[in-house]
Order: sequence, then structure tokens, then C-alpha cells
Amino acid sequence: MSVTVRFCGAARTVTGSCYLFQTENGRLLVDCGLFQGPKTLKALNYSAFPFQPGEIDSVLLTHAHIDHSGLLPKLIGEGFRGPIMATRGTIDLCSYLLPDAGSIQESEVAALNRRNAARGRAEVDPIYTQADAIASLDTFRAIDYESWFEAIPGVRARYWNAGHLLGSASIELAFAGAAKSGQPLRILVSGDIGPDAKLLERNPEAPTGLDYAISESTYGHVDRPATTSEARRQRLATEVRNAHAANGPLLIPAFAVERTQELIVDLVDLMERGEVPATPIFLDSPLAIRATAVFRQYASELKSDIDVNRLLSSPHLCCTETVDESKGIAKFTGFHIIIAASGMCDAGRIRHHLKRWLWHRNATVLLVGFQAQGTLGRFLDDGAKAVRIQGEEIKVAARICHIDEYSGHADGPELARWIAARRPIHRGVFLVHGEEPALAGLSERIAERIVPAAQIFRPILDDIFELATSAPTPIDVSHRRRLTPEAVVALDWHNDMSKLILDINDRIEAAADDRARGVIIRKLRRALYAQD
Ligand SMILES: [Zn+2]
Repeated sequence: MSVTVRFCGAARTVTGSCYLFQTENGRLLVDCGLFQGPKTLKALNYSAFPFQPGEIDSVLLTHAHIDHSGLLPKLIGEGFRGPIMATRGTIDLCSYLLPDAGSIQESEVAALNRRNAARGRAEVDPIYTQADAIASLDTFRAIDYESWFEAIPGVRARYWNAGHLLGSASIELAFAGAAKSGQPLRILVSGDIGPDAKLLERNPEAPTGLDYAISESTYGHVDRPATTSEARRQRLATEVRNAHAANGPLLIPAFAVERTQELIVDLVDLMERGEVPATPIFLDSPLAIRATAVFRQYASELKSDIDVNRLLSSPHLCCTETVDESKGIAKFTGFHIIIAASGMCDAGRIRHHLKRWLWHRNATVLLVGFQAQGTLGRFLDDGAKAVRIQGEEIKVAARICHIDEYSGHADGPELARWIAARRPIHRGVFLVHGEEPALAGLSERIAERIVPAAQIFRPILDDIFELATSAPTPIDVSHRRRLTPEAVVALDWHNDMSKLILDINDRIEAAADDRARGVIIRKLRRALYAQD
């Protein structure tokens, strides 16, 4: 009996979640996510899967986020014919998120092809189109939480509420007869784990007594101060009052799904209670507008002591669906609030608003979520004095603030507690879905205290382990890796390049006069050609 797992994504990174489980009886994928962030990783979205899509029998999807679901239409386009199992909430969110991802890819590729044509390069095809994404929705099958079903012959699966997002799940797998003395081999894939005290979701739930846990680590190194819904709302109120005092706009880059709805609920609630000045809240994202409708529909299932449906229907909320409506927001000066995607500022309408406002002292940008390496949001968060948006350099004069409490992810102590509550874990814990400091942080937190250090594994991209042995046995994949381990971890040269250009501009502008600027330029030129 053999059970192998291949880490096809989210290994030493936070995106591209995808795990391939294989037995003699079939192959199943947990998640099939899009890679985001550095270009080296994003290029994987265009290259071949490290398996034959036609040989995959079924896909189990943990939740709707694109870094978990975003390559499903490609999988189908390349021959996958099985079902995609997901909760109803996940299916409803995917019905908006996947077509949106398809249309983003079509427009990104159209822009790239215009540049390529000017350079005489060949055209590129989008990974998939909006139409492909819509067609893929037919293959989804609804799954209830906490009830077993057969995923592939000999493998049963059960979904647990992961408390991270509407419909999110941790997935328990039982491989018949693959553990000691004919017992099933039990594996739990965490998906993304929500924090305690999340506004709209219950606390995560999952089973105990496993052979393996595969755990996300996004915030494994972070120890957030404990918070409550009310404390978080007060933090937001302070930022809103500061933005009002500055008499400029409050720009909130936010993930369209869940984060946006949490923010609206809290902002409307604060305005109704008179704790912050009432002002229009522009919801400038067609996707977020649709996701908000899904949340209204599921309002009764969400954990909340407040009337989600009523707050999400507030007259303070101005939904700007069309491009003309969106452009109309630019007429507003003074204090107003704009919520737009994407949450890491690397796409979407928020970039237009940032371009318009970043160089104004009276504007405030409030980051409310994780900012991955290489994204515009991360540059802002790191205090960049200037950034590039759509090829243009924009000075950063706006106040940049960050509230961590809205995170959809458990922090280090919460992840450690989640792992501890799964014990006994007989054979090992794989830490995935984290950047290096997070993986190291979580590993340190749980080593010996929760599981023996020798049973903690940090796989790299495309690693394969045999799991039916008494401890995970690595299988040699050196000839089958898509990227070298260093390439996955390092920031790629594109990011280094944009930082360098910004630094050069900075130094040249800061120089005392044109003569000094000439000296800097001559020195740079000399350094540039010194190797020739
Ligand atoms: Zn997620």
C-alpha cells in the first residue's frame, strides 16, 4: 500500500496551494491555486502542471480564495474530467471569483501582448478566459460540513469549518488500510485557518487523532495582541477619525470577499452609533459588490451578534459597479471612504485611486491584510518613498497605516493551539503556506512543546513524500522540480530592479544641484560598464 503526497504549491510560499495525493487506486488534488507575487512564481501559472490533469480523479477544494482555486479552469482546460468537491458557500463565491480571475487574466494578457507586439515578440494566450471559468462551474459538487463521502475509491473525506472565509474548510482524509495493522491513514489538510474572534465566522473546528497534519503557517511568526470585535472596531474608528481630521480620503485596499464585508459592517455600525463622522463609503469593486450579495444571502449562517444583512444594505454604502460610476468618485475631495480591491494593491481599481491620491498629504491608505513579498501593498507597508503604478513613478506623501486585527488568518499562538488540539499526531506535521520567517517561527513554537522536532517537515516546491511508511519518506524528485529551491525563496530580479530604479531616482533628486546629479550619473555609468 502506498500513499504519496506531492507539494505542488504553497511550499515555502503563501500562494499556489495544491497538494497531490496518490494511491494505487487513484489521484486526488486538494486545492489548485494560482501563484501570486514574484514573477518567477507567477510564471508557473503558465507552465505545465507537474502531473497529467487527465489522470486526476477528483479535486477537494478548501475555500474560494484564488490562491487555492484559481487554476481550476486551467486544470479542466488541460483534461481534468472529475468532480470538484466544495461547500455551498465556496461554490457560490467561486461562481464570482473564478470568472473575475478569468477576466483579469484576459486583460493582463491583452496589455502584455500590446507591449510584446511593439517589441516584435510573439503573442501570449491567457491562462484561461472568463468563459472557461464560467464553464468550469458545472463540475462543482456541494459537500456538507462534517459528513464523510468517498473522494476516490478507498479514500474518504470530511470537511470541517476552518473559520477563515464563508464556506472555508479544513479537509480530513482517511486512506483505507494504509496505517498500522490495516487502520485507515488519517491526514488533515488545514486549508487556511481563521483567527479567534473573527467578526463573521465561527472559530475553526477540526478532528483529533491523526497520522499527519498539513498546516498553513501564514502568520506563524506573529504574536498579535489578543483582540475582540469591539476593540478592533475602535482601532478602525481611530483611523477613520484621523483620516477625517486630515480632510482627505481614506483608501482601503481590501480583499473583495469577507474583508470588505467585515469593514462595511464595522464602518456602518460606527457611523450609526455616531462614533465616526458619517460619509459615503464607496464600494468600488464589481466583485466585492457581488460578494456582498452572497454574504447577505448567508447572513443567517454567519456567526454574529449584529444584523449583517441590515448593515450590508446601509444607505451609507455607495456601490460603484460601472467604470463611469467608478471614475465619478474622482470628483470627491475632502473626507470620504473608498474600499476597492485588490487587497495587496497589485491589481484592480484601487490602483487608480492610489495613483490619484498617494502623492497627497491629506490622504490616508489603510492596509488591513497580509501583504505578500513583491506586491505594491508590501512596498507601501515597508515605507517606500515612491512606487511605480502602471509604469509611472508616484511619490508617497499619504499616511500609510496598517491594522492587523482584520486578518483572516490565525496568528502564531492560534496556529500552535490548533495543531496542539489535533493530537495525537502520530507521524508528522508538514508546515506549508508561509514565507520563511513564518515557517521558522511556527516550527520553533511547536517543536518539542507540541510535536517532536524530528516530526516537523518544511517541504519545498514539488517535494514528494511516501506517507504509508512509519515516518514520511522523501522520494527523489531532483530531476522533476519546476524551480530550484533558491528561486522559490528569493525575491526575483524584477523586484530588485524596481527597487534599484526608485533608489537611483531618490538619490538624484536629493542631490544638491545639477552638478552633483551629473556626478552620480557618471559614477553609476562607470560601475555599469566596469565589468566589460
Ligand atoms: Zn484563504
